[in-house]
Amino acid sequence: MIEYDTVSFAYGDTPVLDSVSATIDDGEFVVLVGPNGSGKTTLLRHANGLLAPDSGTVRVNGRAVDEDVVAARTAVGMVFQHPRDQFVAATVGSDVAFGPENLGLDRSEIDDRVERALEAVNLQGRTTDRIDELSGGEQARVAIAGALAMEPTHLVLDEPFTGLDRPSRQSVHAQLRALSRDGTSIVVSTHAPGSVADLADRIVVMGDGRLVHDGTPDELPDPSLSDVFDAGSVG
Ligand code: ADP
Repeated sequence: MIEYDTVSFAYGDTPVLDSVSATIDDGEFVVLVGPNGSGKTTLLRHANGLLAPDSGTVRVNGRAVDEDVVAARTAVGMVFQHPRDQFVAATVGSDVAFGPENLGLDRSEIDDRVERALEAVNLQGRTTDRIDELSGGEQARVAIAGALAMEPTHLVLDEPFTGLDRPSRQSVHAQLRALSRDGTSIVVSTHAPGSVADLADRIVVMGDGRLVHDGTPDELPDPSLSDVFDAGSVG
């Protein structure tokens, strides 16, 4: 479970999060929607200690993130907006193995994790492929596999559909849906929910650093949110 308890945060003098409280339950699929600049990335980066609140608390699986950043990083896998920024190796297998290697696991456990993670995103057998020769959708899936190889309880994806064409988006949707069914909590942020909203158990909407809506997809559309939902259909 990820719990945000009255979290406020500013970059210097610029306030970005204003007393945000929200909970992501185990196994839930949550879509975090809001216009660009509303604070989605900032909120997500608090979930594994990349940023720390000025006031309030973030807990992962019951423990305050600032008390045990390593536990939070292990529990919460992060996939950033531009997968290219996240790759550390030239080939699929080496990249996905990087996290488990840093955990100091033995080789057979690393190889098992890489295989399972690649299977989960339907890229099994592709370990020797060069990442820079893959399509955008395949790169997004390699980035997800890299996070999964850490065996997180939660997978957080920040605008994962940016720049993907429709077939790639649908493929990533399918992988996320399958992971969610297998019990991994998923949080996807997007400024243009489109069809990803259909996958959600819950939709949380941010506006200007505050939560302006938190409910099931059936409770939408709320007329006050029509701007957000008319903004595009990228997801
Ligand atoms: P979103 O993900 O919804 O687009 P962000 O969390 O990226 O929103 O940004 C929220 C606000 O914080 C924006 O006004 C943005 O300009 C500002 N911001 C983001 N990152 C930084 C940073 N490193 N330093 C200063 N301001 C930042």
